[in-house]
Amino acid sequence: MFERLLPKLRVETVFDIDLESLYAKGYRGIITDLDNTLVGAKVPSATPELIAWFTKVKESGFKLVIVSNNKLERVSAFAGPHNIEFVHKARKPSNAPFHRAMKMMGLSPEQTIVVGDQMLTDVLGGNRLGLYTVLVQPIALHEEGIGTRFNRRVERLALSRLKRKGLW
Ligand SMILES: [Mg+2]
Repeated sequence: MFERLLPKLRVETVFDIDLESLYAKGYRGIITDLDNTLVGAKVPSATPELIAWFTKVKESGFKLVIVSNNKLERVSAFAGPHNIEFVHKARKPSNAPFHRAMKMMGLSPEQTIVVGDQMLTDVLGGNRLGLYTVLVQPIALHEEGIGTRFNRRVERLALSRLKRKGLW
């Protein structure tokens, strides 16, 4: 049952994603999580390095939508200054926010990448719809709320099972 939590790709940070090779494979859009994927959960705005990455994503030919389970104020304050479209209160791993983001980009599941730091929300949601899922290392674990900390416990269990099966 834990196979659905397996990302297609694991990287340290978003900066380690090889945009050129994904573009060459036909991918045209990125659905990215916000908290602990782009910045720490308590960091209100994008860092200069991240702003440069947003530009690189665009110049590489990708559309970008932030899909976050966090509330409107947080997500709009983060995405607004960079004119990045977003879906807030997404309730990932539910399918709806992923469908909505793909509609916003005008892209199909075969063209879409999901980037996030959580197997139970970002990876599971993306995998169920057949998107290309990328798991990053969470930026600041100590800043996480109680719901996410619970998810991390399930992740650890899933990881040990997947490792035992030789899938990780
Ligand atoms: Mg996150």
